[in-house]
Amino acid sequence: MPENERMYISYNNIHKLCQTVARHILDRDERPDVIIAITGGGMIPARIIRSFLKNKGQKNIPIQAIGLSLYEDLGLDNGAESIGKEVVRTQWLDFGALNQHFDSLIGKRVLIVDEVDDTRTTLYYAVSELEKEIAEQQIILNRKNEETVFSIFVLHNKDKPKRAALPDSMMNSGRYIAAQTVPDGWLCYPWDAEDIEEHTVLAKAQGND
Ligand code: 5GP
Repeated sequence: MPENERMYISYNNIHKLCQTVARHILDRDERPDVIIAITGGGMIPARIIRSFLKNKGQKNIPIQAIGLSLYEDLGLDNGAESIGKEVVRTQWLDFGALNQHFDSLIGKRVLIVDEVDDTRTTLYYAVSELEKEIAEQQIILNRKNEETVFSIFVLHNKDKPKRAALPDSMMNSGRYIAAQTVPDGWLCYPWDAEDIEEHTVLAKAQGND
């Protein structure tokens, strides 16, 4: 895809990408205990991959949603603090529901799902904030010895310089999973389509069906 061109993605394509990644995760024996969807783009991929990650006879993997919005580029430095200032939490984990129906996230495998990794700002913020909160809970609950393992699944990673870095421990151990790495450009997802039939035709023409 030449830079600045639009890439159309069909629902079927997303379904198949989720299926492929789920198989990869299960092959690595890394079935998550909980899925965290970054709203709104991560919600549909999170729901689809959950079905493919489910083992027969086992309970559905719980999905929690977190909402993050980016401010317009404020021209700040790339340091952690300034990145934090560009991101606003619009929705966060429901610890009450988690504790009541599941458990805390301490010691669990957590799969964070979003549709696209563009500048990486959102994923950086999600991972660092979740890590921070779990570390705080570990101290409160005196469960410091349990390791919580975060993985990331995105449908698309744009091949471009990123504004933030994810932990090396995640990048170097295969726990950052992009179903596809694509050139920089605009990705058109089906949930935004005004005319889904036309959108699907365009996606098919680009081989994304
Ligand atoms: P980030 O720059 O933090 O990696 O991405 C921020 C958000 O911008 C993404 O979660 C996504 O909602 C939106 N975004 C970035 N690039 C694209 C794109 O090509 N298509 C669409 N539909 N959304 C995008």
